[in-house]
Amino acid sequence: MSLQGEGAWAGWPCFFIRLSGCNLRCAYCDTRYAYSEGEKRDIPGLVEEWRKSRVGLVQVTGGEPLLQAETLTLLEVLLNEGARVLLETNGSLALGNVPREVIKIVDRKTPGSGMKNFFLEENLGWLNEGDQLKFVITDREDYEWAKEKVIRLCLSCYTEVLFSPAWGGPVPFQLAEWIIADRLSVRFQIQLHKILWGEKRGT
Ligand code: SF4
Repeated sequence: MSLQGEGAWAGWPCFFIRLSGCNLRCAYCDTRYAYSEGEKRDIPGLVEEWRKSRVGLVQVTGGEPLLQAETLTLLEVLLNEGARVLLETNGSLALGNVPREVIKIVDRKTPGSGMKNFFLEENLGWLNEGDQLKFVITDREDYEWAKEKVIRLCLSCYTEVLFSPAWGGPVPFQLAEWIIADRLSVRFQIQLHKILWGEKRGT
């Protein structure tokens, strides 16, 4: 249990289900422990734990949660139980089978991540109102690259676009200034949980 740290739901109490394994290796990854650590859990057990938390919002994240074949079933069961479900995914795996009611938070990896070529472009077609496309910005080059995509593809016309500074550098302040100067139609966001708890795991 923690507070949702990012995006349109930032600040809300949230139950997190972090699934193990990731197919990418981003330069700034802060959840490397999720590459292989973890324990086997079944869906009924997870859902029961969520129910006991008495929190309506649940986020399924990773690692990369769509790597596990049973994730789609988990999402459906949570929806059927009445949860408001967020799915955080790195954008490299197909979103076509994710239930429409799930709120998708999809990374659009930038050059600074080292993983920009792994994004599945067709995933843009699966984003709906309420979903979020997130760019983590590491430097000015990332910003210009992301800005060009936002404008050329009119990304803000059909989904919420988030620009988030990579944690730990001078970029947060600069990024805010760049967005204001360009009047760019994106939401600046900063990782709330890092401000509150730093790098502490599980928050
Ligand atoms: S996709 Fe996420 S979990 Fe995977 S390497 Fe990148 S930042 Fe880390």
